[in-house]
Amino acid sequence: MTRHDSDPSADQTGFDEEFDDGSLLKSIIDAAPDAIITIDVDGLVRSFSPAAERMFGFQAAEVIGRNVNMLMPSPDKERHDGYLARYLRTGEKRIIGIGREINARRKDGEVFSAELAVGELVLGEHRLFTGFIRDVTDRVEAERKADQLQRELAHLNRIQTMGELATALAHELNQPLAAISNYAQAARRVIDAEAADPTKADPAKVSAMLAQVAEQALRAGEIMKRMRGFAQRGEIDRQPEDINGIVREAVRLSLGGLTPRDVDVSFQLADNLPPVGVDRIQIQQVIMNLMRNALDALLVGTHPAVDISTALSHPDKRVQISAAGHDGDQVRVSVRDSGPGIAPEIANRLFDPLATTKKTGLGVGLAICRTIVEAHGGKIWAESTPGEGAAFHFTLPGGE
Ligand code: ADP
Repeated sequence: MTRHDSDPSADQTGFDEEFDDGSLLKSIIDAAPDAIITIDVDGLVRSFSPAAERMFGFQAAEVIGRNVNMLMPSPDKERHDGYLARYLRTGEKRIIGIGREINARRKDGEVFSAELAVGELVLGEHRLFTGFIRDVTDRVEAERKADQLQRELAHLNRIQTMGELATALAHELNQPLAAISNYAQAARRVIDAEAADPTKADPAKVSAMLAQVAEQALRAGEIMKRMRGFAQRGEIDRQPEDINGIVREAVRLSLGGLTPRDVDVSFQLADNLPPVGVDRIQIQQVIMNLMRNALDALLVGTHPAVDISTALSHPDKRVQISAAGHDGDQVRVSVRDSGPGIAPEIANRLFDPLATTKKTGLGVGLAICRTIVEAHGGKIWAESTPGEGAAFHFTLPGGE
């Protein structure tokens, strides 16, 4: 087979008279967005389209007559002659008519991703190969970025979950720890008073306080255990429970050392409720969070440093807790307070993590409540009339 020596000066793109199927073909090739490169059986470039010039940064004249491997990075650069020879010897098509993604090399040395489709052309005694090359750098780069984003998101998600868990744990542990500290200090005061004046001995009182310390410490341990379980399994330990019992216990725990003489806490618990299949500790956490918010709301406007038991001195500070049937066999628990109501600026993101209007608030309480309630198949929502207090309701599916 003779090599066809083109004359680049006659036609910059190399479509000389012998292969020119006319101006129509040339104009199609010139306008094609893909680079079109023709090589002969020796791997020498015979034509190099305008798009190829733009893509590779070479002028046709710099490439025509030279080995096409100048447009490839290693290892294809060294292997291309071998690929061609093998095809001519065996006729086994590895790329012709198949196409694949390859790496190509621009004049400035930059390697880029490209899709290559190769066609074979037999014209008389000449045999040519035409490569159609599409620069897919942008697509590959977009895919790479998407992959990276995906990885970063997964990582962030893990960090965020860990962070949320840590915040939630801190939030939930705060209350039993504060109660433990309060009871322990109170017990010490009683003992100190007894040391100064033995007639003031009150062992029953000290014993009751220490019993509270023990109960709260166990509760803190229980919270940690449940939180860990929640994180590991992502599921909940459901048992058939009496919702009224859960409500009473949670309210008692949330009032903690506070003597509710200045806040009117009342219950309205229906007595015909079905058992609920719940994780007792988690549902108690929800009620305790709602109770804590209600008490916080009743304290608005008072000095934050004032002891809660003396600050709650207003006669119309009320919290009402109710449990009732809801929509078929569901049970609804509500905590209603007579505080100032929900601030309008937070009303539509109450349950978002980190949404708070309190100076020292973490803004995770209601977010945790929502997670727990929804994990139980229930719903949580709030109602509020400014100036007339707020009500938080949540539902739980009834049944074992
Ligand atoms: P935090 O109590 O740490 O602020 P929460 O998620 O428990 O976090 O509450 C978010 C916000 O919802 C509170 O900062 C408060 O503005 C509002 N909120 C919650 N409960 C009540 C309530 N009973 N009355 C008025 N506003 C409330």
